[in-house]
Amino acid sequence: MKIIMLGAPGAGKGTQAQMIADKYDIPHISTGDIFRENVKKGTELGMEAKKYMDHGLLVPDELTVKILLDRVAQADCKNGYVLDGFPRTIPQAEVLDKAITELGEKIDYAINVDVPDENIIRRMSGRRACLACGATYHIEHIPPKKEGICDKCGKELVQRDDDKEETVKNRLDVYHKQTQPLIDFYTKQGVLRTVDGTMDMKDVFTAITTLLA
Ligand code: ADP
Ligand code: AMP
Repeated sequence: MKIIMLGAPGAGKGTQAQMIADKYDIPHISTGDIFRENVKKGTELGMEAKKYMDHGLLVPDELTVKILLDRVAQADCKNGYVLDGFPRTIPQAEVLDKAITELGEKIDYAINVDVPDENIIRRMSGRRACLACGATYHIEHIPPKKEGICDKCGKELVQRDDDKEETVKNRLDVYHKQTQPLIDFYTKQGVLRTVDGTMDMKDVFTAITTLLA
């Protein structure tokens, strides 16, 4: 099963993608996590990506597409995957489409996690992330069992540099201009499904699994 998560930054794509990945035993692929890992390691890709990420801008398509295509070509993707944060532009979606079509395959679902902008800003300021395993928490809604420590791998949780209010506003702007057109793109392909992302995370997940069944 090949699934794409769509939605504004902070809509809950990563939270739901991880739950989908666990339930269906497919990899959760987040281009944001791949960039953050590279920033942390200080690789050339990381240093280049950071210039854009720190301002809430998109990393250029050429860089992003390459890392994504390399990732989905790996052996663990043969039974499918859930993409979180990719594609984010029409050209990215077109490249992905072409690559998948050439393999005689298709995207099964593009799940749009719908959350109004007002809720997003509140969510982002409470987000805490584990840079080691990619798990995401929220200090009020989805707290870890032990404050500041990842439930999954025991490493320290941090606030992402790009979750500052001003950067979040930029990221929302970028989302509306560059990413929202993908909703039309996948509607035309007949694979778009929208869920109300303002519900409790468990209810959002139930809504998603119902439409995947
Ligand atoms: P995205 O991957 O779309 O950027 P995340 O999954 O990281 O979003 O979620 C953003 C923040 O909102 C995180 O702190 C997360 O724990 C929290 N969150 C996710 N889903 C919900 C929900 N249904 N209700 C409240 N908070 C949520
Ligand atoms: P995310 O964790 O998905 O919110 O991504 C964090 C940041 O990484 C984004 O604000 C972008 O700067 C960059 N990024 C992640 N995925 C992409 C993508 N598909 N295209 C361009 N930039 C991306």
